[in-house]
Amino acid sequence: MSKPHAIIVGAGFTGVATAHDLALRGFDVTVIERGDICNGTSGRTHGLLHCGGRYAVKDQESAIECIDENLLLRKIVPQAIEPNGGMFIALNESDLQYGEEFIAGCEACHIPLEEITAKKALQLEPNINPKLLTAFLVPDGTFDPLRLALAFAATAKQNGATFRTYTEAKALIQDGKGAIVGVSVLDRASNKTMEIRGDIVVNATGAWAGEITEMAGASVPVKPTPGVMVAYDQRFVQRAINRLNHPGDGDIVLPQRRMAVVGTTSFEISDLDYVPVFENHVNLMLERGAELIPGIRNARVRGKYMATRPLIGGGMGRSSARTFKCYDHKETDNLDGLVTITGGKATTLRAMAEKTADMVCEKIGIHAPCATKDVLLLSYRQYYQPN
Ligand SMILES: Cc1cc2nc3c(=O)[nH]c(=O)nc-3n(C[C@H](O)[C@H](O)[C@H](O)COP(=O)(O)OP(=O)(O)OC[C@H]3O[C@@H](n4cnc5c(N)ncnc54)[C@H](O)[C@@H]3O)c2cc1C
Repeated sequence: MSKPHAIIVGAGFTGVATAHDLALRGFDVTVIERGDICNGTSGRTHGLLHCGGRYAVKDQESAIECIDENLLLRKIVPQAIEPNGGMFIALNESDLQYGEEFIAGCEACHIPLEEITAKKALQLEPNINPKLLTAFLVPDGTFDPLRLALAFAATAKQNGATFRTYTEAKALIQDGKGAIVGVSVLDRASNKTMEIRGDIVVNATGAWAGEITEMAGASVPVKPTPGVMVAYDQRFVQRAINRLNHPGDGDIVLPQRRMAVVGTTSFEISDLDYVPVFENHVNLMLERGAELIPGIRNARVRGKYMATRPLIGGGMGRSSARTFKCYDHKETDNLDGLVTITGGKATTLRAMAEKTADMVCEKIGIHAPCATKDVLLLSYRQYYQPN
């Protein structure tokens, strides 16, 4: 019997993780990506392997997803992760008050927490603001975005998945009954259009998910919400430093290789393919980042960049949940053959893929349990090895 064929549109974290999961479950997988791997949001994140602490007060569903997946990713893809930990620091009375909700939230979400004195925090991280009042250690980490995605893609490729990069989905192909049976694509290298047919199409285009569903008159409630990040030329800290308060602008500073990255902001846009780096956002990162690490004020900027979160569900901007959702368009739009996965975080890529692959298997009518919790991923280098 021939294998069922899944076409995945989008090779960000969600697309590559879904390719890996479906390949392990015995699918023939084709991934279509209009740029290269991590062409979209996934190529421009802080790289914070969230422990969930940031969401433990107001968004506990996301917080639990983060801590569970954080622990799993450390096991299956250690080569892309620096398990350096994180620290939440209080700088004023309001931060201290938030600390009480934070402790209760972390307990409710089973996030390990250790309160330390300001003196101990400064011994561990001499460059943080010396006026801090208290600090908490948490199991955050740092990941290398490209290596993380390539490790999933390399393993999917070894299990038979095909990656067609520089190939843009232009239209969804429907059969006589209206069901989706493939994707019409433009090969951007040859400038030729062709059809790729399959048993199911997975829309993993993140913030662009609405553009794909629109091709067939369907919709998804995704809210593209960009944010800025600024990289400075010094690794001021070894851990991810978070402000101990409700998530806000510029309240994370993260070590990435020899740099420190400060992020981020949150706003809405209309043109997904043109998100400028606003200078006032860059200035805000300097102001807010320097509250956590004063030395940032004198550091040289190495890069300023924007990326767009694919947020779903109710609320606006910061009040939007960071969880993810998988949509069967047969149920939402009476359109068979199409599934959309969007929302979520880089940290939850594996869980997002599991949920999507479960839905795909159910729709195709095959029983194939998820194996991704136990399969160690190949090195990112192997993605570029010839088959
Ligand atoms: C500022 C910012 C900071 C963040 N920091 C973190 C962090 O520190 N930790 C964390 O866990 N999460 C973080 N996130 C969230 C995380 O980066 C995203 O949730 C994740 O990258 C989304 O991945 P994705 O694969 O769903 O989407 P994307 O990475 O955007 O992938 C979608 C892909 O679809 C492709 N595509 C679109 N249209 C088409 C088409 N027509 N044909 C073919 N391909 C198409 C795009 O080129 C793109 O590559 C951050 C997000 C932002 C915005």
